[in-house]
Amino acid sequence: MSAEYPEFRLGTELSTSFTATLTERRGDSVERIPTPARLVDWLALSGFAINSCTAAQLALARELRESIHAAATAIATDDALPESAVRVINDHSIRGRAAAVLTPEGGREWRLSSTSSVEDALGVIAADAIALITGQRDGRWALCASPSCRAAFFDTSRSRTRRWCEMNTCGNRQKKARFVANRRRQPEPARNGSSTS
Ligand SMILES: [Zn+2]
Repeated sequence: MSAEYPEFRLGTELSTSFTATLTERRGDSVERIPTPARLVDWLALSGFAINSCTAAQLALARELRESIHAAATAIATDDALPESAVRVINDHSIRGRAAAVLTPEGGREWRLSSTSSVEDALGVIAADAIALITGQRDGRWALCASPSCRAAFFDTSRSRTRRWCEMNTCGNRQKKARFVANRRRQPEPARNGSSTS
């Protein structure tokens, strides 16, 4: 089953949860949607009930993902938006035919067309990215401080000083690295063979 695949990292924003399906972009990258079935799993967890997905649709999804990440990175670093990223995001937003529906309980669901439901879901993700990139929601784009990650994330903390895409992963790893570095700097008393090459 899917246990053999890397777990998902779902955040609070749809589009950044989506870009987080590829992690460690500047290191040994981890592809968290390696197969069409895994994209279906991810979409299900994100509120889109989809029966099937083709390899071509997975390729579309990854293209959208990288375009969102490129655009968000540009915003975070005050650069101009890459033209190709803008085009891909817009194409997906225009193509999607998902309809938001209100549930009797006051929740929101997505009604997807039966023929191209993956594209419909990608359209919703593209529209979510547009909302975040254009400042429709309260927050600030930033890049993760981890040098092997550098993920673009959306900081909604009150102080807007979040440094890592995720505290549980990148944040803790950086903290640990600093701890080890500090220990190395202090000469360790009375430990045989503690020097490392
Ligand atoms: Zn990170």
